[in-house]
Amino acid sequence: MQQFLRKGSLAVVTAGLLCATTLSAVEVDHSHHEPHWGYDGTTGPKDWGKIKPEFERCTHGDRQSPIDIATDTAAKAGVVDGVFVSYTNAPLNIVNNGHTIQVNSDGKSTALLDGKEFTLVQFHFHEGSEHTVDGKRYPMEVHLVHQSEVGELAVIGVFIDIGKPNTFLKKVFDNMPLKEGDRKVSDTITLNAKDLLPTDKGFYHYLGSLTTPPCTQIVEWYVMKEPITISKEQHEQFRKLYQNTYRPTQELGTRKVLHK
Ligand SMILES: [Zn+2]
Repeated sequence: MQQFLRKGSLAVVTAGLLCATTLSAVEVDHSHHEPHWGYDGTTGPKDWGKIKPEFERCTHGDRQSPIDIATDTAAKAGVVDGVFVSYTNAPLNIVNNGHTIQVNSDGKSTALLDGKEFTLVQFHFHEGSEHTVDGKRYPMEVHLVHQSEVGELAVIGVFIDIGKPNTFLKKVFDNMPLKEGDRKVSDTITLNAKDLLPTDKGFYHYLGSLTTPPCTQIVEWYVMKEPITISKEQHEQFRKLYQNTYRPTQELGTRKVLHK
């Protein structure tokens, strides 16, 4: 069942998804009073639901993300329509938000997902992929976060494997702000998020949640089958800033994973 958000609650919910405290780079401010959450210790994923009542879904949800994708089951479950992106060049705008490196979009890149139009808001990285495929965890995963006019969220997940160096991600990684709360903007450097997508446009599709508190169950997930690659050196470059920033996989329950 598709869930809709009221406009007013959108910023809060999206912020959670963004692994960020704010949607816009301009507003990055870590003097906020948001409760602290992280990926290990007493504020790690197992205890997110205890941090505050609004995070309760993280413990008691029934369509949580990420999941392990069983390719056999997905192949039998059925086929859905494609992912059509129409991404444009956007000025570089990168934030180190304390949970990850996030690249903000300028609101001009769109995507047609399962017949609905979405706008690309930002993309960000997880060290250690969040989704796994038949139990396999990739070195990294990038999440392209999209929002529709009425507030629905759709995320395209792309696995990152170790292999050939990635020239697109070189532009991003060479400009990562090293300190939490810092950002880097440039009008002369532009990025086109389409360069993040693998050649093969096959994907898995299922209904899930934000993978960060408050774990709201409003996300249509599109996880690309084919990984993109970075070099070992690029991986190390990212790992100097963030490591093991993934939520463990969640129960699939009665949900189906479709594919294309
Ligand atoms: Zn994410």
